[in-house]
Amino acid sequence: MTFDDGPDPSWTPRILEALDRVGVRATFFVIAPLALEHRQLVAETLDAGHEVEFHCTEHVRHTRRSRRKIEVDTCEGLQALRSIGIGPRLWRTPWGVRAPWTQEVAEDFGLRLASWSADTKDWRGDTVPEMLGRIEPLLGQGSVVLMHDGLGPGARRTGCEETVALVEPLVARLRELGCEPTPLGVAVGEQEVEA
Ligand SMILES: [Zn+2]
Repeated sequence: MTFDDGPDPSWTPRILEALDRVGVRATFFVIAPLALEHRQLVAETLDAGHEVEFHCTEHVRHTRRSRRKIEVDTCEGLQALRSIGIGPRLWRTPWGVRAPWTQEVAEDFGLRLASWSADTKDWRGDTVPEMLGRIEPLLGQGSVVLMHDGLGPGARRTGCEETVALVEPLVARLRELGCEPTPLGVAVGEQEVEA
């Protein structure tokens, strides 16, 4: 289970509470300036056993910027995160958009690109049944679910209530399928070991 576009002082704590209630650890892809601004929230996220990984500094599509601009963006973002004790290993680019050079930039910074396999489209403000119905056929071992604990650019909702409310039924459904959610880095690490 992954959450993008935070940390958000209104919504991240509620997502953390929801995850705590079901005993699940997840992965948060943060916007670096927000992480600096809300470093206590980042510390609480880490303390609860979740992963904090890199999303971006400026939330822009790689295809709309030069490679050099994204390199600077990434360098600044990683420096900011390191200054508050986070050493990201995973990188989810804004909107998952990649330019032809994105993979090389990731390698240069020692990051592994992280995609998803089940998109809740929670940013549209859909209801829990709508979101569950959409992703249910995509859930299973190795599935990566995309959600948001903040309101990124283009969000068509004014809050993340439905994402908070989705956590419990989503985890219940995953457990019915015999899946136990783990942070993405842990799952990726296991795959490497198996390979
Ligand atoms: Zn985003």
